[in-house]
Amino acid sequence: MTPLKTMSAVLAGTADPAWIFAVDGFEPMMESSVESRFAISNGFLGVRGARSTTRGERWVVPARTYVAGLFDSPSAKQATQALVPAFDWLGVRIALPGGPLVCHPGDVPSHLMTLDMERGSVLSESHHSPRPDIDLSVRTLRLTSMSERAIGLQLIELEVEHGEVDVTFEASADGREFGLATDLLDQALGLWHTRYSGKRLALATLLSLQIDGRIVQPTALGPLKSSWTWKTRPGQVASFERFVAIVRTDSLDQDPGPQARDKLGLARRAGWRGVVSAHEAAWTDRWRCSDVTIAGDVDAQHALRFAMYHLNGAANPADERVSIGARALTGDDYHGHVFWDTEIFLLPFYSLTWPEAARTLLMYRFHTLGGARAKAAAMGWRGALYAWESAATGAEMTPEQVVGPDRKVVAVLCGRQEQHISADVAYAVWQYWQATGDDDFLLNAGAEILLETGRFWASRAGLEADGRCHIRGVIGPDEYHEDIDDNAYTNVMARWNIRRALDTAALLHERWPARWKVLASRLGISDTELEQWRSVADKIKTGFDPETGLFEQFSGYFDLEDIDLGNYAGRSVPMDVVLGRERTQHSQVVKQADVVALLGLLPEEFEGDSAAKNFRYYSSRCGHGSSLSPAMHGLVAARLGDRATALQLFRQTAAIDLSANRVGSAGGIHIAAQGGLWMLSVLGFAGLALRGDGLAIDPQLPAEWESVAFNVQWRGRRLKIRIDQSKRRLDATIESGAPMILFVGGKPNHLDSSMAALPISW
Ligand code: BGC
Ligand code: BGC
Repeated sequence: MTPLKTMSAVLAGTADPAWIFAVDGFEPMMESSVESRFAISNGFLGVRGARSTTRGERWVVPARTYVAGLFDSPSAKQATQALVPAFDWLGVRIALPGGPLVCHPGDVPSHLMTLDMERGSVLSESHHSPRPDIDLSVRTLRLTSMSERAIGLQLIELEVEHGEVDVTFEASADGREFGLATDLLDQALGLWHTRYSGKRLALATLLSLQIDGRIVQPTALGPLKSSWTWKTRPGQVASFERFVAIVRTDSLDQDPGPQARDKLGLARRAGWRGVVSAHEAAWTDRWRCSDVTIAGDVDAQHALRFAMYHLNGAANPADERVSIGARALTGDDYHGHVFWDTEIFLLPFYSLTWPEAARTLLMYRFHTLGGARAKAAAMGWRGALYAWESAATGAEMTPEQVVGPDRKVVAVLCGRQEQHISADVAYAVWQYWQATGDDDFLLNAGAEILLETGRFWASRAGLEADGRCHIRGVIGPDEYHEDIDDNAYTNVMARWNIRRALDTAALLHERWPARWKVLASRLGISDTELEQWRSVADKIKTGFDPETGLFEQFSGYFDLEDIDLGNYAGRSVPMDVVLGRERTQHSQVVKQADVVALLGLLPEEFEGDSAAKNFRYYSSRCGHGSSLSPAMHGLVAARLGDRATALQLFRQTAAIDLSANRVGSAGGIHIAAQGGLWMLSVLGFAGLALRGDGLAIDPQLPAEWESVAFNVQWRGRRLKIRIDQSKRRLDATIESGAPMILFVGGKPNHLDSSMAALPISW
């Protein structure tokens, strides 16, 4: 066990700059994006990086804590649910005679905020001389525990450098209206329920203050609020600690109060030192499993750490009823809704570094199969059509209208037409099973998802007079083109989905016949139906032209206006704003990786030089109007050996949430872009790929990267792999688990617990 630290040691950030992000001072325009970047999360509780001590009577943006799965509708009539932003449990107000220590964050000459990614905490340090007779320094820490996810901790140390005045320290949890109905608010416990979705929430809290090591009793009390008043003297140190325990239940009959009290009791017994130490040990473990180190490119290392910090903080392996929204638990954009982002851009990271989290995220899709079946049935199809935007129940949550990037209200067709999501979920299920060999998951959940999504596509793709099966009236990943026919991405993924469903049926039939009998009979799958699936898969139109080697993105795409994006270099708004919606729809300008995404996911569908041809053709027509796009292009560019383009796309992805003048992260960090950064690094540059009989590596490191080392898990084994560019060498070790085969540059190598040093070439 690591020795317990003193409060001062805990309040000091990790020294290594590769592990921290720091921001000093206050920039009103940037504040909201800073809050997103400096969010802390454990997959259950997410807290934006709003300042706690420098807000007085006025502040800029309301502070936000999110509780995963706490969805509610705005009214009884409206079914669309949004994540209800919960209360701010970190608020502190320090008052001196004559007014608050700080009225506005901008008043503080220095306020250093540090995101300590290694320890999963946010720290701050500020100095205050509000009047000539007083000097104070304030240091804070906040965390949401990675080892006990209900627990949040805040520590504040106030040191009096000089001055003797009366000071009041007031700590509160903001019990204002924040979208929940209040059942109880007392000194140590708050209870609420959502108005329409039947969820309950409890917050139990414990606050205490010590002055020079002695506990001081609060002088005023209120609901979730305590306050202390004392006289300062030079050298005095006041130490404040606040624990919260937050519990959500999914039914009005389940009172979350007792559980919140129990969790708080555990934290109280552990003390803040125990809480910090267990939390840090849990983060150490996450880093041990997932860290990627890059030598030779400090910026890339920093950006990738940021990505992995948010990825590790976004998942909760203990709650199968929630998944990860498009902004994780870091902001309000997209209302906490879950998109294909999770399965396509996040699952690779989890399946290969944190299988327990990957399984839980897929179990969320298993538990929401009911919603997906209902959506397919309501639209006249069979099987499971997942919601384009999903919340607590799996019902479709996509809004009917949004305000577009040009500030005009536009109808959103994605909820009806962006159906590739069903194949994306199936893809992630299969990849997870390939990566982990988790047969138990396949038998009890994965198979049903594969079969029901396969069945959906088999009913969706209609046989027409030309003898081909067509999927008409969809939106592919490129959302600039709506209501299109035969989107290559959708159709090829659908065919792949049907074929994997057939493989699943055959596998179960052969290896687990009793299980197959039960499942096939429950789902009503007959041999005749399987035959029909096979026939649809064989007849699906793909849009591939053997003469040019190109996939046509959808029927009629090649006839659209071809616009040279080179003429728009340096633009600061998306292409659909530059050209207007209508012209964009009639052009070949692509919002995001579409055929290129297909190439990223199913490279085996592109033979010979068709991969390079499609990449060239479509990347020059892509406006990267989505944060999901550059990383997917980068992954493909790296695999094709275009390392300079891939590195440029890596930097473009990293800038999405990190560039200094970017305010686009105000509504939360783009977690899919962060997942994409990991994919580009590990699956692209390091060239890791899953095979049925082992793992394969085909590195394509950028010239700047001297080496890259990463950790992955494969079928119960933990591996550490290091690729050294100058030595043209790959070192691989199985840290735990049985020997296996690692293919390097296509050649099989036997791996065991001793380090294998293998030559590489590219
Ligand atoms: C996104 C869609 C989404 C819609 C409504 C658009 O900005 O591109 O994917 O469904 O917003 O949330
Ligand atoms: C993208 C979608 C994505 C959504 C949420 C949209 O802008 O076009 O592909 O799923 O954002 O991140």
